[in-house]
Amino acid sequence: MLTKVNMWDDEHGWQHVTVQEASSIYHHSINLHSNVFLCELCGQYINYIASQGRRLNYFRHNNKSEDCEEKSTGRSSYCRTNPLGFSLPLRIWIDGRRIEIFLGFLPLTEEWIKRASSKGAQLRIRANGVLLKTFNISSDRFLPNKISYLSVGSNFAERYEIDHDMDECLDVWPSTVLGFGRNGTMFSKESGRRLERNSNVVVGCEYVLLVPGNLPLVRNKDVSIEDLKPANGYQVFLVKAKSISLGAAEFFLGYGLRLTDQQAELTQVYPFAVKSHYVLLHQSEKVWFHKTKGHIDVSPNPSSRAFGSCMDMFAVSGGIKQILSLSRFEEHTGVLRYIMLRKVSSISQPIKAPKVTVVDSKNSVVPPGESKVLPQKRFISVTPEYDGMIKVFKGDLEIDRVPLKGGCAACVDVDRNRSYRIYQGLDCVYKITFKRPKAAKVISDDDILKLLSGLKGKEVSVSHSLGSLSGKLADMPKTRIWLLKRIRTGKIYDSAIKILSQL
Ligand SMILES: [Zn+2]
Repeated sequence: MLTKVNMWDDEHGWQHVTVQEASSIYHHSINLHSNVFLCELCGQYINYIASQGRRLNYFRHNNKSEDCEEKSTGRSSYCRTNPLGFSLPLRIWIDGRRIEIFLGFLPLTEEWIKRASSKGAQLRIRANGVLLKTFNISSDRFLPNKISYLSVGSNFAERYEIDHDMDECLDVWPSTVLGFGRNGTMFSKESGRRLERNSNVVVGCEYVLLVPGNLPLVRNKDVSIEDLKPANGYQVFLVKAKSISLGAAEFFLGYGLRLTDQQAELTQVYPFAVKSHYVLLHQSEKVWFHKTKGHIDVSPNPSSRAFGSCMDMFAVSGGIKQILSLSRFEEHTGVLRYIMLRKVSSISQPIKAPKVTVVDSKNSVVPPGESKVLPQKRFISVTPEYDGMIKVFKGDLEIDRVPLKGGCAACVDVDRNRSYRIYQGLDCVYKITFKRPKAAKVISDDDILKLLSGLKGKEVSVSHSLGSLSGKLADMPKTRIWLLKRIRTGKIYDSAIKILSQL
């Protein structure tokens, strides 16, 4: 019998409802197609069965419904992707009409990386049984303090399967990564991360939606939808819920997501730690957190969690590597957020960033930042540690990309008024901008004076701003004297102000 059931409330969104409460509203059965009762676990509508006889009323999934953790038909083939109930992160990078896909791997300890490296361990990524990529598990690619994103190019799949030669990593690297749904898949616009199955979307936040090319998108007045350029045969949209409404909630439900006005937050409060979205490095016996809602699980040792006097504050103790997850329900059910806690001996060392060497034609190092001079022969030579790319920008507009091969030098022509950003994986590790020196003045002091002297028309009072302007006309002495005379008389032509304000 299903107990985790929601009903829509116009003010608060999806709200929990019991069988007893449902019975007081409905005296007859409600079919799932009436879209009244929702399974809180999997986000599918369910049946409400009102039995007139001796049996009790109950909620039930349809036999044909998709897999649910609490499907009560007895024929469920549902199996979680891993015991911790979450998938490793998946990120996309949209480059014009091409989408690149990255899978994220939680960090391994230094000892693990060393051991894997010495035995030549490999990591393989497959989709539908076909091998997509093989990576060596070594310190070149895997960092002990940071998630590593590995590219599978533009290989779209509903699921990615992972296997590797490191049995010890099974709990950190679940064997399945959720990929692209048949109806469409939603990503955070900010990070490019795929939203997990049944996760929350927040009113007012922007998301990128990828929908297979042949599927029509059902528009909705409560959701703002902006069409972007299609890529890799997918339609690409920028979507945002305008308000909490059943219409908007159903739009997102179509992609397996739950609309809310407030995200379940998990915040580390004490002591000092180095944090990123999935990894937290600390040096303490106990790390304190605050959560806004949901259930907390700690793995591998669940007893290491202790609640404070206020139930929303809790501490996690011990262990060099633990996974903390925040779920809709107990026991890793409906994971909303997870983070790896790593106890390290020192966090004062900066997190190691991939090394990239940038030199000019004379082999002198070109420091990042802003530069008013171009290097001689107008090129830079870039040697990255790993495969990556250089993105060339004109203002905010990306105008070119140059692929980089790990360990190989690449020469890149540079020009003024351009920025060059060097990426290793998804991280920008170096940025240089060549600025154009200020253009010489086209209009001379004499020209301006001639223009001002010939003016006629309506006179107005001189304002304070003209006084400060005169201070800025050091390189236009004749115009400045003319302006100072006007300031002394207190009157100036209206049209003169317009000319002066453009200087
Ligand atoms: Zn369900």
